Amino acid sequence: MGLGEYRRKRRFGVTPEPPGGEKRPGKALLFVVQKHVATRLHYDFRLEWKGVLLSWAVPKGPSPDPAVKRLAVQVEDHPLEYANFEGIIPRGEYGGGTVMVWDRGTWLPEVADVDATLRKGELKFTLHGKKLRGSWVLVRTRRDQGGKPQWLLIKHRDAFASSEEITTTQPRSVISKRLLAEIAWHEGGDVEKAASADPPDEIRRLVRNPALVARRKRRKPSVWHSTAG
Ligand code: MN
Repeated sequence: MGLGEYRRKRRFGVTPEPPGGEKRPGKALLFVVQKHVATRLHYDFRLEWKGVLLSWAVPKGPSPDPAVKRLAVQVEDHPLEYANFEGIIPRGEYGGGTVMVWDRGTWLPEVADVDATLRKGELKFTLHGKKLRGSWVLVRTRRDQGGKPQWLLIKHRDAFASSEEITTTQPRSVISKRLLAEIAWHEGGDVEKAASADPPDEIRRLVRNPALVARRKRRKPSVWHSTAG
């Protein structure tokens, strides 16, 4: 697919999302799951393949329970650097809202010919993340009304299968430990909307004890500051 559609939908002077183009030769394949509260809450499931992140929007998020099949609508490929993106997409821009790196790690195909199985519509793979582990499968079912391919994301039975509701029990960022509300608060997003997608118990805990709110980390100094005498 490439990055054409991704770039057409975005104004890189306005959104802090990356335009893409970085290469990572010889490294293990990345995967990332981003919790994204935009028009609606969803989880963006992304697998590195051939220099881009193949991407699916999973409205309910992944489930480690093999009895649960989660709808995953395939969307445009994203650049590899997107795996590091956590913050705010400005209001009015494509996907405007708050983005959290909910899980990240590496993945391994369980098949010899990934391209052939993607065409066929059934990809088996192993995830090595902080939250998602073990064997999974993506199965293509049909196209939605907009023509986007619909897949199901399903956990295989193995030692990492469980009935835990991990989207509720593990709601924080794996790179900053923040809730969505904290990301929105730090980065100037819509805190109320972001908080509506965090578990209510976690928000109540923060409101009762604001000292628990994650401190904002200082940004790296800008180039013109560090070079100024
Ligand atoms: Mn999204």
